[in-house]
Amino acid sequence: MSKPQNPFNQELDKRSRVSPLSQKLEGLALRCLACAHKCIIGDGKRGICKVRFNKNGELYAPNGYVSSIGFDPIEKKPFFHIMPGAKTLSYGMLGCNFKCPFCQNYTISQLSDDFNYLGDIHDITPTEIINHAINQKAKIIVSTYNEPTITSEWSLEIFKLAAKNRIKTAYVSNGYASEEVLGFLMPHLNFLNIDLKTFDSENYSRILGGKLENVLQTIEKAYKMGIWIEIVTLLIKDFNTDEAQLNSMVEFIAGISPDIPWHITAFHPCYKMTDKPATDEGIIRKAFKIAKEKGLKYVYAGNIQSSDMENTYCPDCGELLVERNYYSIGSFNIESDVEKAGKCHKCGASIAGIWF
Ligand code: SF4
Repeated sequence: MSKPQNPFNQELDKRSRVSPLSQKLEGLALRCLACAHKCIIGDGKRGICKVRFNKNGELYAPNGYVSSIGFDPIEKKPFFHIMPGAKTLSYGMLGCNFKCPFCQNYTISQLSDDFNYLGDIHDITPTEIINHAINQKAKIIVSTYNEPTITSEWSLEIFKLAAKNRIKTAYVSNGYASEEVLGFLMPHLNFLNIDLKTFDSENYSRILGGKLENVLQTIEKAYKMGIWIEIVTLLIKDFNTDEAQLNSMVEFIAGISPDIPWHITAFHPCYKMTDKPATDEGIIRKAFKIAKEKGLKYVYAGNIQSSDMENTYCPDCGELLVERNYYSIGSFNIESDVEKAGKCHKCGASIAGIWF
């Protein structure tokens, strides 16, 4: 006899639609193609993310709700090379395909079998989301807070409407995408922020619940597809801060393009990872130095007091181009005239990014 569903799952499942991101297997089984796990799901079962399920041989994916919605500056995502100071409409849903013990949003991402907080489900339509964005003058719509890949069908509906209204779109993701989902989202996904959480395969598989190789492939593929990418690494002592790992990580990013911005942020103990200390500034500075020495042009530090590592400088002449103080923008010295747009105002070097 199958286990009765809890009321929360029943409510979540009511807000789901048949997904095209699946492959039929023998009998009523299927394979979900939305993320790199490519779960094989039997009839009546759920995938690793717990929000996608097989009902009578059809894959169902979340649709028509958000767990939260808010208006944040683009710098908070973080994206530093996209329309500085722009307001975003950010939304999240529920669930995740990873199990990171340091997740800051674990209350909405880590759904346990007895999860039952119905307050996290707010019904909304794509049109209502777009209207909120227009009313609040948000220039970018971002799927964030939980892992966006696992709810890509719903985001695509929103993103198509966003394009009609000249609103850009972005994901803040752990990078565990499948090639199929990237193709499915194009050309409607403009910007992708990817967490590269460690360069240690064992850490990825045992602690986070994925394969490093798949995250690296997402970064490579998304870059080749022309999606603007920024990478974030939360530095955690004895998890990803040894010199060999930092060197490999930076070499990998620089090997794709030295123009990709790399954000290194300081960890603070949370959720299940309370045994590690908060990351001190010395570790951040060490990673920053390695990145610059290995040729990354744009490296930024977050979650620490010092503000000297938040600004954008011209990689050619060293001129201060974008001055930042947390989420506010100070001086801005990138040319906006049509003929010189996106160039350093002093030496004329092209500065990678979508600035206007
Ligand atoms: S999105 Fe990923 S984790 Fe969820 S069911 Fe599909 S393949 Fe599995």
